[in-house]
Amino acid sequence: MKLRVIHALLTLLLPCMPVEHAQAEDSQAAITMLYDARFELHDTGPGHPERASRVNAIVERLKHKASFTPFLCWTAFTPATRQDVERVHSPAYLDLLETEQASVKPGQIRPLSTGDTMLSKASLSVAMLASGAGMAEVDAIMTQQSPVAFALVRPPGHHATRDRGMGFCLINHIAVAARYAQQRYGIQRILIVDIDVHHGNGTQDIFYTDDSVFYFSAHQHPLYPGSGRPSETGAGKGVGFTMNVDIPPGSNEGRVLQAIQQQLAPAMQQFRPELVMVSAGLDAHAGDTLGALAYSDAGYAAIAKAIQSLAAQHAKGRMLWMLEGGYVPANNANAVEAIIGTLVGSP
Ligand SMILES: [Zn+2]
Repeated sequence: MKLRVIHALLTLLLPCMPVEHAQAEDSQAAITMLYDARFELHDTGPGHPERASRVNAIVERLKHKASFTPFLCWTAFTPATRQDVERVHSPAYLDLLETEQASVKPGQIRPLSTGDTMLSKASLSVAMLASGAGMAEVDAIMTQQSPVAFALVRPPGHHATRDRGMGFCLINHIAVAARYAQQRYGIQRILIVDIDVHHGNGTQDIFYTDDSVFYFSAHQHPLYPGSGRPSETGAGKGVGFTMNVDIPPGSNEGRVLQAIQQQLAPAMQQFRPELVMVSAGLDAHAGDTLGALAYSDAGYAAIAKAIQSLAAQHAKGRMLWMLEGGYVPANNANAVEAIIGTLVGSP
């Protein structure tokens, strides 16, 4: 029996086994993958762009990509708790969210009062499961199961501020994961790279006065939600720990790659992140229905390479990727295939 087949069978039968530290020079490394079919239960209603097929297309592609199989370790996880999400959201917002969620009847879909996010019967529990995926990624990385983890979750999270769900987001999963990494594992400095076509106003809001989490976003401007001007660089002790880059409509990946290399990389020489997290929105892809940028699949591979280089240089290769937006299922699958191919060093 071929080794690859044996490995595939083992990954079905056994929990992921710790692998040797992937050194920065390693050309191939394992990735812990997180997905749960219950993400489909968050129902946004007919015709809504944030639908389950966006994520399912990615999972189907990866599971059928034989050359990836030896490198991908699909891992189970549990939902975040209220205590976990209170690390980033105010109790008042979580009370409101729980109250509004409790009022949703089976089969009903209604908007969250704080802004443009739909609630169905399972929405909050699905969001808590997505936050749990981010925390499980941290565990996988910090316990050396694998230096890289990628969570294919929904609903997305980066528009959720401390006090408000909006932009299809209820809970800010990557922020929950960052605080968990700091409190559970004592990580001092975290870089969050947000490549979604939209500015991650929620993540910026949560860490705006914080010097332990550096938030970088390169996003289309003008576009929803309108925040993220380059002049927004943080406040208080967080001044200098937020970096925003505007990208004009129609741009390909050249501008974001330039920003990573010429603006972010020098800043990281000073900041020296111990863990790199990526808000992996894929709605900057050419042809996306909610954005007007034109990133190619090769562009996503180049972006992954540039982020991987930063992680290798400063963070022992530790990278946590988390899906955000991306509204054309086939494009999402293509982009993630390109990213994973780069991360594992396999075409
Ligand atoms: Zn987006």
